[in-house]
Amino acid sequence: MSDVIFPGKSLCIEEEFLPGKNVFIENGELKSSAVGKEETDSKNRVVSVKAGKAKEMLKEGSIVYGRVASVKDSNALIELFSAENGEVLAPSFATLMVSQVSSAYVDSMKSVVRIADIIKAKVSEINPQGINLSINSPELGVIKAYCINCRYPLRLFDSELKCVKCASVQKRKFSKDYLIK
Ligand SMILES: [Zn+2]
Repeated sequence: MSDVIFPGKSLCIEEEFLPGKNVFIENGELKSSAVGKEETDSKNRVVSVKAGKAKEMLKEGSIVYGRVASVKDSNALIELFSAENGEVLAPSFATLMVSQVSSAYVDSMKSVVRIADIIKAKVSEINPQGINLSINSPELGVIKAYCINCRYPLRLFDSELKCVKCASVQKRKFSKDYLIK
């Protein structure tokens, strides 16, 4: 896809078009707030960005990024926001089961991910019920975690995720691509 628009991309100047869906005005320019395709309505002079539907744009094996929306012992609900190749995604959810975290036994998802963490995952299955994810690989897992006490982003020191604000050390299944080192 050569014509994918990324957030922050300038589409035109304010005088030319009105902002439509996923478009905002900054310094007199209309800019995209989403990943998607530009759509121009010349008649009504509206420019918008259409985000793709996850199920149409992903396949098994696709690498995706998402935010943890909820965590239970057996699974976590992930709100997907983009795919590694830059495509996607209109708001959509996927499930990460505790069995898809590691080849070793994992007691609870709460030692793997926490609410609002950002994860990098692989699509393991797409079926009529939804999208299932896996993070059972060194490059997959949490890439940005937030302290469960004070919400501050955690920093990776050697093999430990630590909050530099409240000094707590926390457990996650983090990716080797963890962002804050
Ligand atoms: Zn903290």
